[in-house]
Amino acid sequence: MINDSSKIISFDNTEYAFAHMNDGELKKAKFLFGLMGNAFWLNLGLKLMPLAIKYRFPFTKTILRKTIFSQFVGGENLEKTFPVSEKLAKYGVDVILDYGVEGLSTEEGFKHAEKAFIDVVNYAASQKNIPFVSIKVTGIASFTLLERIHEAMQHSKKENVLERYQLVIRNLLPNDKAEWDLACTRFENICKAASKTSVAILVDAEESWIQDPVDALTTLMMEQFNKTKAVVYNTIQLYRHDRLKFLQQSIRTATIESYIIGVKLVRGAYMEKERARALENNYPSPIQPDKDSTDLDYNTAVDICLQQLDQIALIIATHNEESNMLATLLCEEYGIDSNHKHVHFSQLYGMSDNITYNLAKNGFSVSKYLPFGPIKEVMPYLMRRAQENSSVAGQTGRELNLITKELERRKKK
Ligand SMILES: Cc1cc2nc3c(=O)[nH]c(=O)nc-3n(C[C@H](O)[C@H](O)[C@H](O)COP(=O)(O)OP(=O)(O)OC[C@H]3O[C@@H](n4cnc5c(N)ncnc54)[C@H](O)[C@@H]3O)c2cc1C
Repeated sequence: MINDSSKIISFDNTEYAFAHMNDGELKKAKFLFGLMGNAFWLNLGLKLMPLAIKYRFPFTKTILRKTIFSQFVGGENLEKTFPVSEKLAKYGVDVILDYGVEGLSTEEGFKHAEKAFIDVVNYAASQKNIPFVSIKVTGIASFTLLERIHEAMQHSKKENVLERYQLVIRNLLPNDKAEWDLACTRFENICKAASKTSVAILVDAEESWIQDPVDALTTLMMEQFNKTKAVVYNTIQLYRHDRLKFLQQSIRTATIESYIIGVKLVRGAYMEKERARALENNYPSPIQPDKDSTDLDYNTAVDICLQQLDQIALIIATHNEESNMLATLLCEEYGIDSNHKHVHFSQLYGMSDNITYNLAKNGFSVSKYLPFGPIKEVMPYLMRRAQENSSVAGQTGRELNLITKELERRKKK
């Protein structure tokens, strides 16, 4: 536990946290978090919204646009994110642009997504505060193919992900091989576009049952593009009990192959789905036994990375106050500058402004992860955010308390 006297930064300052929001915007956020904290309305919303969109129920998009969409999403297209990123820049906050496409299934869709990702990279490069673009491999490769490759990789006893990958790729059926080669080329083209600019690519982590080929491909891209700077970052989900070991192996590979490893540390967003699938298919759950184990591995991973910043470019992607606080304290202890080019913090747009804006105010490099895209395409992301904010005891309670505190502070002024 971190005691108060050791803290060099406070996440309780609501004046800094919400300086970017007027009273009306704060009241709207309070209403929204209140609604998400109410199990009845949340469950009803989660069931009705996808249906309402599918059957084009009148006013659905307008209601969404004015509520949950504007809280968590930057806009329906790239250009519409401009006012949001400009406002963030005013407060020293960077942006991770996320083109919210996931789970595509046709070659035409993948090709379109590749071009869109490259456009996003070039747009980001033209802006002053967008150093990162995130990408989901399921936006440019078929989920079922990823699943097949992952499963084949699991049969090998070799520990190194690249060795397992190479064995499997060599033996793919001709159709799968042709499809996979196209996906690899798309991925490479996106990384190539980024490497020509100052923008880095963050590869999101998704379900564990497609992760092996994602890790392998990302590692190959890091080998190719990260020789002198971090162009490509992998995401490590510490809610998996095997990921600390994977992180250490990845660092060893990067040291041997002499490249900078880009690492985005998250706890993980698919816990319920992971546990349910493991139960249904009768295999051991990849998820840690409890929250404390996840927290312990997360904080250990932060510490490991901060001790090797010549080899690692780190993004601490979390809303957990203790992990963020710990990272700031470790920076102080190890003599790391708050604006070290290999240390960056990030929170999702619409959440934990108390962390983001207080980190920025104290000179740390910090961003908001800002998704954009048509309402229909960002629905899976919005559903995850609503579910994540569903517990009054958890995130929602924290957000509501902070917003209420700030509204009261303003009233007293
Ligand atoms: C910038 C950014 C990028 C992200 N990118 C990704 C990504 O690429 N892939 C991805 O999967 N997620 C991603 N996430 C989401 C992230 O994984 C978490 O879902 C979210 O941030 C909540 O975790 P936390 O660390 O913020 O906070 P906390 O509230 O401290 O932790 C909640 C998390 O702890 C874990 N947890 C909760 N209960 C238990 C339990 N009983 N046993 C074990 N573990 C438990 C779960 O992962 C849960 O989401 C990202 C988040 C951010 C901020």
